[in-house]
Amino acid sequence: MSGMTEDKVVNCPLLDKHIEDGLCLDIILAGNGELKKEAVPEVSDWEKAKHVCPGCQAYYK
Ligand code: SF4
Repeated sequence: MSGMTEDKVVNCPLLDKHIEDGLCLDIILAGNGELKKEAVPEVSDWEKAKHVCPGCQAYYK
């Protein structure tokens, strides 16, 4: 278990690519209305995010 890096990357089915988990959390928070969606320009379809994120293995609160 040694050698793990701090920055984790997740395979994001919403954006269809690997993203840093910090961006994933921002997307989750913005999707929940806890962060301005304007702060996450990577996402263009928030309706899709509302459906995809809760079913994603990387989803957490
Ligand atoms: S929870 Fe949402 S933003 Fe995070 S990896 Fe899954 S689909 Fe992407």
